[in-house]
Amino acid sequence: MDVRRVAVIGAGTMGNGIAHVFAQYGFGVTLNDLDVKFLERALATIRQNFERQVKKGNVTAAQVEQSLARIRTLTDLPAAVENADLVVEAVTEDEEAKKGIFRQLDASTKPHTIIASNTSSISITTLAAVTKRPDRVIGMHFMNPVPLMKLVEIVKGYATSNETYLTVKSTAEQLSKVPVEVSDYPGFVSNRILIPMINEAIYCVMEGVAKPEAIDTVMKLGMNHPMGPLQLADFIGLDVVLAIAEVLHRGLGDQKYRPCPLLKKMVAAGHLGRKSGKGFYDYSS
Ligand code: NAD
Repeated sequence: MDVRRVAVIGAGTMGNGIAHVFAQYGFGVTLNDLDVKFLERALATIRQNFERQVKKGNVTAAQVEQSLARIRTLTDLPAAVENADLVVEAVTEDEEAKKGIFRQLDASTKPHTIIASNTSSISITTLAAVTKRPDRVIGMHFMNPVPLMKLVEIVKGYATSNETYLTVKSTAEQLSKVPVEVSDYPGFVSNRILIPMINEAIYCVMEGVAKPEAIDTVMKLGMNHPMGPLQLADFIGLDVVLAIAEVLHRGLGDQKYRPCPLLKKMVAAGHLGRKSGKGFYDYSS
């Protein structure tokens, strides 16, 4: 199947980036969120990010206008998805909320439509099971910031068909991304490896092995990571890191995934990283 029209559900950090790249590469995009104000904010962010690309010489001002003209915004979910060949769900990471949306998407889309989730940690198999088309449900896990990051983890659920996989893989390639096939296990590959590394860095802080700056310097200069694990944790949001660590712990049942008590304490204190102004580093200024 050839994907031409795409609907993106959720216009937050990831949803606006996903809409951006689909529009940039010529797809018709409908962007949906609960309220017009979220959609307006998303369009403003998309324009700002496009302008950055213009400054870098990656796109022309004319291409930006053409791309923006391909994005339609709608708060009505059934209307937003009725003509889509592919829906990418990128709402808040909440299993019950996503299941509710998947039921609505199943009822409101054409039979051929593929329903993808950008979830970081929720089982694709579980989301697929609430629909009558588990063969056409798949994970399309983009990385943040979407316009810059090349990787898309394509997550095959238990019942995902090979045809669905091949269509989504080819679509990701048309976005100039590099798709990687992974199976549906907690955290897929990216977070299965990243989150325990961040968690271990937090244990190092808790046990006084080294200060956050020192830990990040070791990983940057010693391992050639572009960002230290604690700086990255602040960027992702400590609440998000904790939620994924809990999914790994619960889903894999191994004590080695238990979230660090210091991480739990910082989340309880509201020190969530960049977005709250304080995490392992201070962003108040
Ligand atoms: P976000 O909070 O920035 O955005 C979520 C958006 O979904 C909000 O605008 C919210 O209003 C909207 N929303 C909530 N319920 C909705 C509904 N019923 N219908 C329509 N819109 C609804 O979250 P985010 O960081 O963009 O994350 C979205 C998804 O992407 C999550 O599943 C997350 O795990 C995944 N993800 C996030 C990152 C990241 O770094 N932020 C990276 C990869 C994947």
